[in-house]
Amino acid sequence: MSDGLVGLVAHDEKKDEMVDWAVMHRSTLARFGIVATGTTGGRVLEACPELNITRLKSGPLGGDQQIGALIAEGRIKALIFFVDPLTAQPHDVDVKALMRVALVYDIPIALNPATAEMVIAGLRAEG
Ligand code: PGA
Repeated sequence: MSDGLVGLVAHDEKKDEMVDWAVMHRSTLARFGIVATGTTGGRVLEACPELNITRLKSGPLGGDQQIGALIAEGRIKALIFFVDPLTAQPHDVDVKALMRVALVYDIPIALNPATAEMVIAGLRAEG
């Protein structure tokens, strides 16, 4: 049912952590198609140009909703979503909707680097 895509989204204050995480796990990520919100995808692509990343709209401009739609279509197998808990987000309703749809479809969703380590370990273990 899944295209095996991995979703990447990071709020502004978390983008550096997302880039560091992606660099650390680039060889595992290279085995998957990646979809990312616009700015996050651009930053990761700069650091890891070999990755197959489809950049969607920026999160506040609809990118979170695009990722949510892909989840609803069964195309995303895991979502790495580094959320900034200390800054108000103008698109908070989209953030909540994205988390909600990930719960509805019961896909692995990592909201912080500690959980992302576990999710990527699971992906690495796949055949
Ligand atoms: P961005 O979107 O990657 O385009 O900054 C992330 C977000 O949802 O804030």
